[in-house]
Amino acid sequence: MFDKIEKVERKKKEIQKTYSEVFDKQTLLSLTKMISDKTIDSVDFPISTGKEANVFRAKKDSKYLALKIYRTSTAVFKDLTKYIVGDPRFRNVKKKNIVYIWARKEYKNLKKLSDLGIPVPTPVVCRDNILVMEYIGTESTPAPMLKNAEIKNPEKTFKTIIGYMKKAYKGGIVHADMSEYNILMHKRPVVIDVGQAVLLKHPASEDLLERDVKNIVTYFRKFNVNVSEKEILMNIRGG
Ligand code: ADP
Ligand code: MN
Repeated sequence: MFDKIEKVERKKKEIQKTYSEVFDKQTLLSLTKMISDKTIDSVDFPISTGKEANVFRAKKDSKYLALKIYRTSTAVFKDLTKYIVGDPRFRNVKKKNIVYIWARKEYKNLKKLSDLGIPVPTPVVCRDNILVMEYIGTESTPAPMLKNAEIKNPEKTFKTIIGYMKKAYKGGIVHADMSEYNILMHKRPVVIDVGQAVLLKHPASEDLLERDVKNIVTYFRKFNVNVSEKEILMNIRGG
């Protein structure tokens, strides 16, 4: 009995901690500005609580938007900050600003992918650590991740996703974190979580492409889609 109460209390504290970490003063201020400049009308409900960011549904007129709010206070942020914060040469670079740059990078990558015709949430605006984008889902629920979605035609879904990767590659960009977690199923697959995407001139882009292909090929093996990674890579890289 007491165990249970303690557990509930602990859970409550955890939620409070998450909220105060996500909605720090600066973030609340940015949100307030977004409401006063009519980017959004209100924040609706949380969709996801991640390590680096939280995603919320927001309302705008009678439509919905998604807000990805990067945490400026977490200790681990893509392990990036430790290379910069603390280096005397970057004395003026605050952790918060690196987070802002990261959010903007995701915004730009969304823009590029969307311009290339790849289904991603259309980016709306990025302010400080808040990325506003198209909401993928229905009135009642956000679209499920590929991992949790029922796929009627795995072969077709697989081909569609590889098609997106090829299109991106031809357009000069590699997602670099492709997996069944970063694809939403909403009539067709929609690619999300593009902060880490890199341009082809990035020295690791080819290795990252190989890893992306491996993830997707491995996932679809479960559904008896049997193709070799090599073949797929050749297809993506080839004409
Ligand atoms: P991270 O993995 O870094 O926490 P993601 O960008 O993958 O962040 O988003 C986390 C989750 O939030 C996704 O798995 C998805 O369920 C949901 N989500 C993200 N963007 C949207 C969106 N535009 N519309 C609906 N749901 C979204
Ligand atoms: Mn993700």
